[in-house]
Amino acid sequence: MSRNTKTFKAVVDFIKEWYSTDDFLPLHAPVFNGNEKKYLNECIDSTFVSSVGKFVTEAEEQFAKAVGAKYAVAVVNGTCALHLALRVAGVQKNEEVITQPLTFVATCNAISYLNAIPVFVDVSKETLGLSEVALKDFLESHAELRDGACYNKTSGRKISACLPMHTFGHSVKLDEIKKICDKYKITLVEDAAESVGSYYKGKHTGNVGVVSAFSFNGNKTITCGGGGMIVTNDEKLAKYAKHLSTVAKTAHPYEFFHDEIGYNYRMPNINAALLVAQLEQLDSVLENKRQTAEAYKNFLANIEGVEFITEPKDCQSNYWLNAIQFSDKETRDEFLKYSNSNGVMTRPAWTLMNELPAFKDCQAGDMPNSIFLAERLVNIPSSVRN
Ligand SMILES: *Cc1c(COP(=O)(O)O)cnc(C)c1O
Repeated sequence: MSRNTKTFKAVVDFIKEWYSTDDFLPLHAPVFNGNEKKYLNECIDSTFVSSVGKFVTEAEEQFAKAVGAKYAVAVVNGTCALHLALRVAGVQKNEEVITQPLTFVATCNAISYLNAIPVFVDVSKETLGLSEVALKDFLESHAELRDGACYNKTSGRKISACLPMHTFGHSVKLDEIKKICDKYKITLVEDAAESVGSYYKGKHTGNVGVVSAFSFNGNKTITCGGGGMIVTNDEKLAKYAKHLSTVAKTAHPYEFFHDEIGYNYRMPNINAALLVAQLEQLDSVLENKRQTAEAYKNFLANIEGVEFITEPKDCQSNYWLNAIQFSDKETRDEFLKYSNSNGVMTRPAWTLMNELPAFKDCQAGDMPNSIFLAERLVNIPSSVRN
């Protein structure tokens, strides 16, 4: 056995032992240990399974409370939540939105749905999310303030928003990023899809941006099959997001009048029933996932050549997906092969957005950290342990 293989075997054996199984271990499986079946039955018995029902309202109220925001609007998935978040934040056609190249494609898809254009700025090696240093550098060399708005000197287009993403649940430096955005009159929107239960300086993620988006997809920290939430402290934006998510129909007992083109994005009551049950367990889910992160960290402290990614300073992470980092791409690729063929699912971070056909022509600043991380990161099993 080569030295690498010995290391790989030790890591894979530890993961199997930690999850007490020899069965195939997925990256993140949902766990339903609470009132899920009870609420689903209640929902079915009520016949209100679609977009009107008490669970939708309940999920919104409970989620707003859980993240410490004033308003939450429930929609069918996190991508829709992002789409509407950017829309109510005022992003328009042909405007630019600064985001990070190391993210899930939904971040950039949502920007594109508005016919806006992503601009890529590097991530930080500490947070894995948008780097405040790279953002400042990029704006200093490319931005100019005109008529109270920010313009990109290279493209001539308005930079209307900045959309950082809290990678794997580790928060970006929200205070610093907010300061830069304010200085340049850029609206801050958070892609908080991965950060349910993650805090920055004691405050839940999703509260520093004007509006933000969360996801409850099947592989996220808590899930309702498919679902998303738009969160804001601005009443007007919350009302507008809800209006757009319900086909922009004006309230009337029986008449159909739509004051603009809306979307059928409202979360169905049956999904909300699941979400309410999952929200009840959020604290124990987070506690359980922290134990796994702690166990990985302690174990990997003694393994040479593999580094465990810990929560950044000022952040309490939900450790949605635990991540490890190898010293080079070849070793990382060997590990991916070894673990996946030995019953433990692992995967690399995403292909950088500026390398995808749809976004290859978008403007991109220097991104040494994104390239470095994309070649070395691996996500390892992170489900709640039963
Ligand atoms: C999961 C995710 C989304 C989208 O959420 P869906 O509910 O799958 O549509 C958006 N952005 C990021 C970064 C995500 O990880």
